[in-house]
Formats: sequence, C-alpha cells, structure tokens
Amino acid sequence: MNFSTRCIHTQTRFADPVGSLVMPLYMTASYAHDSLGANGSHGDYDYSRLQNPTREALEDTVRDLEGGIDCLAFSSGMAAIACLMELFRPGDEIVTSWDLYGGSIRLFDAVTRKNGVKVQSVDTSDLDAVARLITPATRAIYVESPTNPLMVVSDIRRLAQLAHDNDALLVVDNTFLTPYFCNPLKLGADVVVHSGTKYLCGHNDVVCGFVVTSRQDVSDQLRYLIKTIGSGLSPFDAWLVARGLKTLPLRMERHQQSALAIAQWLQGNPKVTQVTYTGLPDNPDHQLCLRQGTGFGGMVTFRVDTPETARRVLENVHLILFAESLGGAESLITYPLTQTHADVPADELAQKGIDGCLLRLSVGLEDPQDLIADLQQALA
Ligand SMILES: *Cc1c(COP(=O)(O)O)cnc(C)c1O
Repeated sequence: MNFSTRCIHTQTRFADPVGSLVMPLYMTASYAHDSLGANGSHGDYDYSRLQNPTREALEDTVRDLEGGIDCLAFSSGMAAIACLMELFRPGDEIVTSWDLYGGSIRLFDAVTRKNGVKVQSVDTSDLDAVARLITPATRAIYVESPTNPLMVVSDIRRLAQLAHDNDALLVVDNTFLTPYFCNPLKLGADVVVHSGTKYLCGHNDVVCGFVVTSRQDVSDQLRYLIKTIGSGLSPFDAWLVARGLKTLPLRMERHQQSALAIAQWLQGNPKVTQVTYTGLPDNPDHQLCLRQGTGFGGMVTFRVDTPETARRVLENVHLILFAESLGGAESLITYPLTQTHADVPADELAQKGIDGCLLRLSVGLEDPQDLIADLQQALA
C-alpha cells in the first residue's frame, strides 16, 4: 500500500465489537483480568503506563510510516529524546549536530552531561569534522536534518555508514520533514525521533513525541525504559494525533507549495537580506534533499535588514501568529533569539548567526496569497 493509504488504514486493523471505523478512545488506567493464567500472566493489558490500545494504534501507524520495527509514543518530543538518552551510561560519548532545537541543546547540557555522557557538537554536514570527534567510546551520532533554525542538511546515508563503522547508532530528528518527505531508517539510520507536536499532529492542539527504531535491542531497552519512567502519551492525545495523521500527505504538500511561494516572494523584498528554504533551487542543500528524500517541507528561515524590522514584523503580522512551535494549520512566526534558543549561551548564538535579524516562519495551511499580503504589510 502507498503512503497516503497507510496514513488512513493502518490504525483500523483491530477487532471492534460494533465495527467502529476508528480506533476507539480507551480512557482507562487499568484493565480487569478474567483469571490468573497458568504462567502468572493475566492477558495482554495490565496498566496504561505499559499498554493502551489507542496509543498502540497510533504507534503502529507511525512505525509503519517510518519503516521501523517499533515505535513508542511519548508525552512530548523532549520526553522521547530524554528517554532515548537513558540508553547511554557514564563514560559514553555522543556527537550531535551543532545547530539543534534549543530544547534538545538544553537537555544535552543540563541532563545528559550531568549523567556522565560526553556530548560534543559539530557541523554534521561536514563528515570529516564528525569523524574527527569519534572515539572508541562514541555510542551515537545525533542529527537534526534540516536543523532548527538554520536549515542545514546532513548526508544521512554517509553518517549512517560512519556510525556503523564505529559501532555507534545514528539518531535522526525527523520532525521537520516527516516520513512523508524523508525516511531516515531507509537511509541507514537506527533511530528516528519526532516532536509529534508539529506536523504529525498538525493541528497545534497536542504535545507529543515519538521514537521509532529499526533495531530490536533498542526497542527492547526503550520498552523497558518507558514502562519504568512513565512518559508515555495519554490515550486522548494519541487519539487526536491518529486523527491528524490521516491528512499528513495533503497537509505536507500544501505546506510545501505555500512555503515555496512565500520564500520566492521574500527573496524579492528589499528589507529581506537572506532567505533559507531548501526548496529553492539555488539553496546549497537542494540537491542533497532530493537525493535522500522527496521534498523540503514548510519551514522558511529569513533575515531582515535590522532588529527593528524584525520587531516590526513580529508586532505587525495579523494572520500569522507570533508564537513558538511549528507544523500546524496556523502559520506561526518565531524569534529564535528569545524563544526556542533563549537558553543557548550568547557566544554560541553569535557564532551560529542566530541574532536579532533572524526570523523563522512555519508556513501553515491558509491561502498563500493571504499570508504574503500579511507579510507585505508587516514589512512595509
Ligand atoms: C519542538 C521540537 C522538539 C521538542 O518537541 P516537544 O514536542 O516540543 O517536546 C524536538 N525537536 C525539534 C526539531 C522540534 O521542533
């Protein structure tokens, strides 16, 4: 079956006594048992921290879309990444992308390092630079592609090869492209993480996260960890995300079409000094995106001439909302300097070019001409 069909039908493979088309919402904390089984087992369901049919239906859909052997749904993207980090022990080393979602940087700095794991960051689009940081203690390479907010793309096939040559895992945060545009596991990655809050949910109404893996050992460890830590997604949120997933292909196509139109329009505005959208044919990562996927997504990063212009844009957009997050029906504009990257040290921000002139736009599902008109009046 093709991708769009699988978005809709994977979840319906279950036996329901009344023939419900949609996986019902099992709002229960616990499950009653008929008997004490011979081997001490009471059936498949004990307690919703461990198992819940609604959450499992969602996990199975995301597992299928990413092409993994297992998927776990978490109460947020950060809960997913934090659980994944519990695979590592004091003395282990991880190499991460240099430009990452600010919350991931905070997690690695404040929690992972405290737990004795050495985390080093580097431009993962430079394979030699990654290779130089690898030691016998390296357990994983962790990349975001494209990165947030600078949209740098890494070569996933070559990073997977490098990781495997060194007995390490390749982890890819696939939040921006989603399995509709890119399947890192099929390119050799071992683990995919998602902030499902973004495109997978798609409606700006749930916070959730996923880990998908192609490896049985990682799946076994994560199943044990999620049951122990208890950061699984609530059944109600799982039900909403499963509903959102059915339109993922339609939404991604529209996000992408509108993002290209807006990126092209921004390029012609005199107050805009730089537009970074991998879907623009002259973007340096355009061809790499096409070699490892089928599209570019709906995120556009741009620079304006002065911090005052940036402030005016944030204050004067009407339709586009000045808000954190991305990937939903509503277009959102973000100021990385004071929002997603507020906790990143000043010298690091300066090095990366995350300054007062940088804006990040999540192009929503509104009519693109209305979005352009809104940007036009805000930039006037
Ligand atoms: C939002 C985001 C996260 C964190 O996910 P939450 O659902 O907000 O916890 C991680 N990675 C990327 C790329 C994100 O955009």
